[in-house]
Amino acid sequence: MKKNRLILIDCKEAARFCDKAQYREATFSERLKMRLHYLICVSCRKYQTSNSRLTKLIEKAGIQTCTEEEKEGYRQKMHAESLRHFKEQ
Ligand SMILES: [Zn+2]
Repeated sequence: MKKNRLILIDCKEAARFCDKAQYREATFSERLKMRLHYLICVSCRKYQTSNSRLTKLIEKAGIQTCTEEEKEGYRQKMHAESLRHFKEQ
C-alpha cells in the first residue's frame, strides 16, 4: 500500500501539480503522477482541461508577464522580507 502512495496522489496534490505544470515548474515525476491521477479522476481531468484552456487564452491575448530579471528581483525582495519576519519572531 505504501508503494502505491508514491504513485497515486490525491486531488489536492494533483491540482497543485497542475498549477505548477501550468507555469512549467513541475518536475517529470510530478507530471507523471498528475497524468496517472487523471486516468482515475474525472473532476481533476476537467480542472486540467479548463486550466490549460485558460493558459492558451492568455498566451493568445499576448498578455505580458514579468521578465526573468524582474521575477528574480521580486524573489530576492520576498526572501529578504521573509527572513526579516523570521528574525522578528
Ligand atoms: Zn482528482
